[in-house]
Amino acid sequence: MKLLFKGHDARYAVEQSLLAFFPQERPVYDPAAREKNQATVTLSQGKKYITVVTTLCYAGCTKRGISRVLWDPSADAYAAERLRQRAVKLSFFKAARQVTGVTPSWGALTGIRPAKLAAGYLEQGMTPRQVDRLLRDTYCVSQTRRELCIEAAQAGLKAKAELHPEDISLYIGIPFCPTRCAYCSFVSQAVEKSFGLMEPYLEVLLGEITRAAQMVEDLGLHIKSFYMGGGTPTTLSAGQMDRLLTHLNRSFDLSHCAEYCIEAGRPDTIDREKLQVLLDHGCDRISVNPQSLEDSVLQAIGRRHTAADIEQTMGLATSMGFKHVNMDLIAGLPADTPEGFRRTLDKCLSFGADNITVHTLALKKGSRILLEGQKIPSAEAVGQMLDYSVSALRGADFHPYYLYRQKYMSGSFENIGWCISGAEGLYNIYIMEELHSILSLGAGGSTKMVDPAAGRIERVFHAKYPNEYITRPEKIQKNLEDFADFYRSMKK
Ligand code: SF4
Repeated sequence: MKLLFKGHDARYAVEQSLLAFFPQERPVYDPAAREKNQATVTLSQGKKYITVVTTLCYAGCTKRGISRVLWDPSADAYAAERLRQRAVKLSFFKAARQVTGVTPSWGALTGIRPAKLAAGYLEQGMTPRQVDRLLRDTYCVSQTRRELCIEAAQAGLKAKAELHPEDISLYIGIPFCPTRCAYCSFVSQAVEKSFGLMEPYLEVLLGEITRAAQMVEDLGLHIKSFYMGGGTPTTLSAGQMDRLLTHLNRSFDLSHCAEYCIEAGRPDTIDREKLQVLLDHGCDRISVNPQSLEDSVLQAIGRRHTAADIEQTMGLATSMGFKHVNMDLIAGLPADTPEGFRRTLDKCLSFGADNITVHTLALKKGSRILLEGQKIPSAEAVGQMLDYSVSALRGADFHPYYLYRQKYMSGSFENIGWCISGAEGLYNIYIMEELHSILSLGAGGSTKMVDPAAGRIERVFHAKYPNEYITRPEKIQKNLEDFADFYRSMKK
């Protein structure tokens, strides 16, 4: 779709709205391009209001959407830009809704952290009811999403109230997997191609842990939660995992750590011996990530295990006494249907997991689904899957405690972490609500540095691939130095 802007250059805001309504369209900014579909978005700034008019021509139909947002003369540059973006999104939303006859469930909200927005309003003193009205009247968010959003915001605020300024979380990335899933865009390497890198990777990681632990101690910080992800950490052998966790526990002071979580993502990497290693080192939460319990879907996404393998793994995990067990599911995978998803969720509920995370498929660049043009369920079918998950999980006494959205999601929906009361995954809340810093070690991740008092957030991106991580020690050193510098600057 050709996009023409007058009086602003809010590309990101318009592109996000474009994705929500017209996922098959790509933005074209060349004014001379011959495109059938076109949107002209004009912003004018008065003394009292920002007014935006969007004229949208799509498939032979032309509609106009007008928004007016109250101007705040005291707004700083950042807040002023946010006001302009809000006006732009609303006007595009109004035009697109008329053209398509569709109201996306998140209305005109396009950000990836809607619960953070709601939490901000609650912190300003608004009641949940007032926030609900604001989400309804200003952003046209559906009732189901408003409820989810406000509940997740409240869970975030509860977690925030228990944090201290010196708290941070620690993340370790193990970017190896047995095979590559069709929807994956992570930088994880399939073990069959990179087995030889696992030992050298571990050696470098042990060294980074030693230096990071010293730095954390010197800065006077406390590890509040630990999370090992990837990739699939349980791709490591039981012996390698033992070596890694022994070194981790000896290096870091984990006396303030309220959560020790390890992704045991793929059932084909889990056995009793490995799970026992996790338990022996204090792991109190694992995440098993089957994504589906339909064999046809597992096959379509490139998994080498069956639903029966998952059932067996879950039986093992729950019998061994892990305090919390999460299961990850994805709505919208190739070969899935609303009935299949319903069977998957019902089975998950029968396994005894106290956390179930329901993701919506996000079509990411580089994923096999896109490269191979695999057929996926329609947005309507995905909507039915998610509707079922909301009613089934609420019926089983689960509540939503964190949620986020991603680009290129089927139907522009969301990912939601559900749990029974008291089983909230703290790390998930901290990272999604950006409540404190996440110090990341290993390859494939990023360190996020958060100064909550000043509202400052900075990121450091790590080596993407194991090979780069192993061969560039100066990058590891620089990442740690950047982290330390951030904290030293905070203390000034
Ligand atoms: S298990 Fe996760 S990281 Fe590994 S290939 Fe599948 S989606 Fe990617």
